[in-house]
Amino acid sequence: MAENVKVAVRVRPFNAREKSRNASIIIDMSGQTTEITDPENPKAEPRKFAFDHSYWSHDGFNEREDGYLEPAGAKYDDQQKVFEDLGKGVLDNAWKGYNCSLFAYGQTGSGKSYSMVGYGVNKGIVPLACEDLFRGISAKRESAVKDEEYQVTLSMLEIYNEQVRDLLNLKTLQKGGLKVRQHPTKGFYVESQSNWPVDSYDEINNKINEGTRNRTVASTNMNATSSRAHTIVAVSFVQKSSNEAGQNMTKTSVINLVDLAGSERAESTGATGDRLKEGSAINQSLSSLGNCIKALADISQGKKKVVVPFRDSVLTKLLQNALGGNSKTVMIAALSPADINYEETLSTLRFADRAKAIKTSAIVNES
Ligand code: ADP
Ligand code: MG
Repeated sequence: MAENVKVAVRVRPFNAREKSRNASIIIDMSGQTTEITDPENPKAEPRKFAFDHSYWSHDGFNEREDGYLEPAGAKYDDQQKVFEDLGKGVLDNAWKGYNCSLFAYGQTGSGKSYSMVGYGVNKGIVPLACEDLFRGISAKRESAVKDEEYQVTLSMLEIYNEQVRDLLNLKTLQKGGLKVRQHPTKGFYVESQSNWPVDSYDEINNKINEGTRNRTVASTNMNATSSRAHTIVAVSFVQKSSNEAGQNMTKTSVINLVDLAGSERAESTGATGDRLKEGSAINQSLSSLGNCIKALADISQGKKKVVVPFRDSVLTKLLQNALGGNSKTVMIAALSPADINYEETLSTLRFADRAKAIKTSAIVNES
């Protein structure tokens, strides 16, 4: 059955730049409603949006001795809360044999990586989900149900200037772009992409850290170590068992975890030269993503004869299933709370609002 893409928004604390410029807060959240005020027009009615989840991570937290940011009152949503809502749901679906996709959208420095991967003890959805997955597998193994087998494999890709790089294969990484091919039934895939079997949380975590170190990073005014690339972590989960009649059953799920490059326009990062070229390639890729999302939203609202331009960029080819096919999909839109980022934040909210309308039809992958 077709189901809407689930959309969450999350607002982070002020960063140093916003504080030094005495920024004021223009986002307000209550329940599922997120409001944004135009700082040039503070008396005007704020724009209202409704999402599946609105996470307030701006203030109301305590920094624990180990550095973990925990709620000091009822208002603050910490990493655990976001994981409980979004990560747990993804895992439940993976156990059932659905493909799942979770992607983070927003301008550079808005908190995409914080939510997806996290920093230090403030682990994000990816490590928390990996921990939970292997905890679940251990429990199943210990409960000693006979003839059950669990296999997890990992791959990690980066899309940088419309080139695909395998972050876990140094040989092809140095050679540069890998080819994206189309399978007659399964859709687009990356040729000679490496796939690594992993059998514990430590193994998968080490592998993800290795891939993270191999990413292309460059500095812009917005964020010193911001990635100018899209990163896709894909976890494949295979469950083998036999049913009461003694037949072998295999359930497969691919979990795609996507940390998108910053959605800002090139001008606002002060980019020049090479950085600007990267900026425009990122915009090309993200603008095709925007076009696909618009087309998919139109189709979901009953519009006929709409062509979804998946072929327009590498990113949209690889996200085709996540957006319009066999996948249960969640998007988290990361927001700056500050007046100085009004235009970008409003554009992120509009993007997230369109994504809400999209429907995907996930099926259980069982054979
Ligand atoms: P992005 O990946 O979108 O470029 P980051 O996730 O790296 O941005 O976040 C930028 C900075 O803001 C980081 O220093 C991060 O620790 C901080 N930050 C982001 N989101 C939160 C949050 N929810 N709570 C606390 N700090 C956050
Ligand atoms: Mg990031």
